[in-house]
Amino acid sequence: ETLIEIREMWKIYQINQLQVQALKNINLSIKKNEFVAIVGPSGSGKSTLMNMLGCLDTPTSGTYILDNEEVSNLSDDKLAEIRSKKIGFIFQSFNLIQKLTALENVELPLIYTGVKASERIRRAKLALEDVGLGQRLYHKPNELSGGQQQRVAIARALINNPPIIFADEPTGNLDSKSGVEIMNLLKELHKKGNTIVLITHDNDIANQAERVIRISDGTIVEDRQVI
Ligand code: ADP
Ligand code: ADP
Repeated sequence: ETLIEIREMWKIYQINQLQVQALKNINLSIKKNEFVAIVGPSGSGKSTLMNMLGCLDTPTSGTYILDNEEVSNLSDDKLAEIRSKKIGFIFQSFNLIQKLTALENVELPLIYTGVKASERIRRAKLALEDVGLGQRLYHKPNELSGGQQQRVAIARALINNPPIIFADEPTGNLDSKSGVEIMNLLKELHKKGNTIVLITHDNDIANQAERVIRISDGTIVEDRQVI
């Protein structure tokens, strides 16, 4: 079952007279329950591709079908709606709200989708228990280690059961031990049936996925299964 289908996608940024071809004719399909890493050096087009895949921006040309829906030409509002329903985001910088507790951070996506308070709390507690933070429900982000903050962010990304999880350099701000823990958690989520797309510049991180797509100068130069 195909979740992501990209055909002949171009993204061209125009800065005054200068054109930057950030993505050049990308063709890509990702199936349900794959664990894919997109790897490439700085400036290769990873963030641009992530922004397209994550419905944060639209391509200059080409098509993007996400979970059987064409999303290449939608308005910003419609894209926001697709993101909240279909995608769980994990960022390098965690992007937690500092004033809120771990539990409240994880509840946030459920507030946007109109789940009532008692149900939100029940589900957010379970999600935090699932990532090993059942004893940290009422801690604020600055009272947690980096690895723990990333686990809160993962619980938040999973709370709506989105069909796809995007992780953008999820270990980039972590020490190596916490980085290993977060990668192990992503592998566990993959085993449980989640579809994960990981974006990284780090080959050792990428090789922990089951499929590695290498991007260079806006083109896919390698697409292989990791054995
Ligand atoms: P990476 O994430 O691999 O570092 P990017 O997708 O950020 O690569 O960048 C790919 C190319 O597109 C680079 O040449 C970069 O300078 C250019 N680029 C990225 N974003 C913009 C933008 N908003 N406006 C103009 N050029 C951009
Ligand atoms: P970096 O990986 O460079 O540290 P981030 O991971 O914070 O950057 O963000 C990656 C991309 O996602 C950026 O283009 C940013 O604008 C966008 N972004 C960041 N936070 C959110 C969010 N909460 N919702 C939607 N898009 C976001």
